[in-house]
Amino acid sequence: MENVFLAAMELTTILNQCYPQPGFVYLKARFRADKKAIEVPVRRRKGSKAVCSRCEKPAPGYDTLPARMFEFIPFWGFVVFLIYARRRVQCAGCGIGAEKLPWCEGKHHSTKAHMLFLAHWARKLSWKEVAESFLSSWDRVHDAVEYVVEWGLEHRSLEAIFAIGVDEIQYAKGHKYLTLVYQIDRECIRLLWVGKERTIESFRGFFAVIGEKVAADILFVCSDMWKPYLEVINEKCVNALHILDRFHIMAKMSKALDEVRAQETKRLLRDGHQPLLKKSRWCVLKRKENLTAKQQVRLRDLLRYNLQTVRAYLLKEDFQQFWTYNSPAWAGKFLDFWCHQVMRSRIEPMKKFARTLREHRELLLNYFEARKEFSSGVVEGLNNKAKLVMRRSYGFRTFRVLELALYHSLAKLPEPTLTHKFF
Ligand SMILES: [Zn+2]
Repeated sequence: MENVFLAAMELTTILNQCYPQPGFVYLKARFRADKKAIEVPVRRRKGSKAVCSRCEKPAPGYDTLPARMFEFIPFWGFVVFLIYARRRVQCAGCGIGAEKLPWCEGKHHSTKAHMLFLAHWARKLSWKEVAESFLSSWDRVHDAVEYVVEWGLEHRSLEAIFAIGVDEIQYAKGHKYLTLVYQIDRECIRLLWVGKERTIESFRGFFAVIGEKVAADILFVCSDMWKPYLEVINEKCVNALHILDRFHIMAKMSKALDEVRAQETKRLLRDGHQPLLKKSRWCVLKRKENLTAKQQVRLRDLLRYNLQTVRAYLLKEDFQQFWTYNSPAWAGKFLDFWCHQVMRSRIEPMKKFARTLREHRELLLNYFEARKEFSSGVVEGLNNKAKLVMRRSYGFRTFRVLELALYHSLAKLPEPTLTHKFF
């Protein structure tokens, strides 16, 4: 006899305990010829009727397809397969089609238990590591995550969303963007949607998913100043208070400051003052008494040029006060005063930034109107997690893979359940 039967406690006994299949019977487990895999043949229980996989009603058998392997959870270094020859049924309503198998879903080659098992680990390890650790392949892990995510998206609830944050994230070496929408209610923080690009059209896709009614119920929206986002929010969230978030504004300010420094460095170089500013960046920002003798000489030298960089830096520091206000009115007064000062500064990048702030004055003050409750902190935290997920699913940076990985890790999706706890 070619097959070696596993004696004592039969694997089938354990399988019947942890993964029973109504209408089907596990037969004796056997080693595959190379002894690297364990195969468990399955047959249908005598007298049990086949069920049409489309309408889920009993239907008479039509014919039997060749036996196929369905991957199961590996153990003790062995891959495990269920082997079954699937029937086709002649359903009165649907015509000829495959029978429904309780352990497997549609086109997938793995059992449900195996897919849930791989997907569970794919939240903790990279997909490659999951494949290697559990004797499977990257494609199987991908399939498993896809199954769990699709099931979850279909079964999640999108009712009662009060606050959302929208942000973009770069991928594929910074040449492409994703738009991410998060729910940032205090009781529910999760990723709601992943979109390709950051255009008006792609962002509208989110509202197509949630529908007009849910969109109309949203009360707070946090975003940056990216025009397409502003436009779509204006159009779809008719009852929401739109908040420009703090993180993005300060990031924009830093960018302006960097621009000032870069321009000035160039100008000084051109005038023959060598790496003056380049090497002095921190020296000018240090307290005077902490400077070395050499640095003091350099600082005197720098101050003669009335450096724009230093003035811009001080303006930036001043602006921090803006976030400390509680009343929108006082915050507004400060904002106007600050912008006025900047406009007189003759520092072009800073003036440009101040103009942007003036343009979005109302949205900025909404931050105080919302009592700072919905700030970018949450969105920023989620975005950092998203970046981590992206790094972990490295290797295949297609949009689809990233989309799956992000939903899987951050969307808090419901999952199909199993009667036995395998992991
Ligand atoms: Zn049917």
